[in-house]
Amino acid sequence: MASVPAPRLADDKGRQVSYLRLSVTDRCNLRCLYCDGQMRQRLTHHDVLRYEELLELMGMAQALGIGKVRLTGGEPFARRDFMEFLESARARFPDMSLRLTTNGTLVAPYAARLAAAGVDRVNISLDTLMPETFARITGQDLYAEVRRAIDACIGAGIRVKINAVAMRGVNDLELPGFLALARELPVDIRFIEFMPMGGAEWRAEQVWRASDILEKAQVLARLTPLPRDAEDAGPAQMFAIEGGRGRLGLITPLSNHFCGSCNRLRITSGGVLRTCLFSDRVYRLREALRHPKLGLPAVERIVRLALRNKPLGAELLAARRSGQGVSEAAMSSIGG
Ligand code: SAM
Repeated sequence: MASVPAPRLADDKGRQVSYLRLSVTDRCNLRCLYCDGQMRQRLTHHDVLRYEELLELMGMAQALGIGKVRLTGGEPFARRDFMEFLESARARFPDMSLRLTTNGTLVAPYAARLAAAGVDRVNISLDTLMPETFARITGQDLYAEVRRAIDACIGAGIRVKINAVAMRGVNDLELPGFLALARELPVDIRFIEFMPMGGAEWRAEQVWRASDILEKAQVLARLTPLPRDAEDAGPAQMFAIEGGRGRLGLITPLSNHFCGSCNRLRITSGGVLRTCLFSDRVYRLREALRHPKLGLPAVERIVRLALRNKPLGAELLAARRSGQGVSEAAMSSIGG
């Protein structure tokens, strides 16, 4: 098997770009308060990239040295034939690290096929271990489905990371339960600070800061900080939990940003490239991709151009929090 080529893409600040988050749909079967509280207008069928177009973009990414693609949404499994798409992506890109971010509600029946397709890690978003709170956050009574998905993925040999948005007044009393789950199951539970994104209400006092989580967790468990492993943990600071099969992770976009080591690009399901989660500067790839005389070479040129100005999101975020709004896009349209 040929190995994935070394990263060849770098931005204007010398950061190597080796990771693409590719959203396959802007539709979701949940309405999480923090993500997309209000119903937004969705892309039309025509404006959503066809699966074949997504594969073309993945091929371009691979040729540029991107070895890791995370499929996200909206909810990836809310798009028809998503599993078949993933299998064709695997067949076309046997060496690519294919990962998935999902709300887990539709995943359980596909766990074995995901494993067979070489998806060896899945991120499942789950903010609470209480069914009533789950329904309040997401608008759907599907907590049991998510728990089934976690068990099914573990059973299929997939490494599961649970991502919980850390919100005061919502899940900040649930640390003991999450730690108990990480003791019982071989899962990484990663709390991510609640970020101000478009489309959803955000107030500073709702942020449950990582430092507070850590302080509380250290009272409840013996934690040992683990060395950063960018490949495995991404931006999370990970901790081993004494006596636990799983680990605790903290992702700190607000209190301790990781922009200096950002290695990612994002492409939405509408074919819009974003070089930074917090910037509304976008680059339209779809029109070039679909243009009979332009196509992928033009898309590649746009990507390279965009990388000449990949911002430091923390600066934009600081401006946003001081009231000069920056990113207006909802997470559901970007993919997290
Ligand atoms: N539907 C999939 C899911 O639930 O994982 C993929 C898309 S979702 C937008 C990706 C991730 O973004 C989820 O883990 C979600 O919790 C996170 N997210 C959404 N809005 C957020 C916010 N305001 N702050 C922090 N994380 C957020």
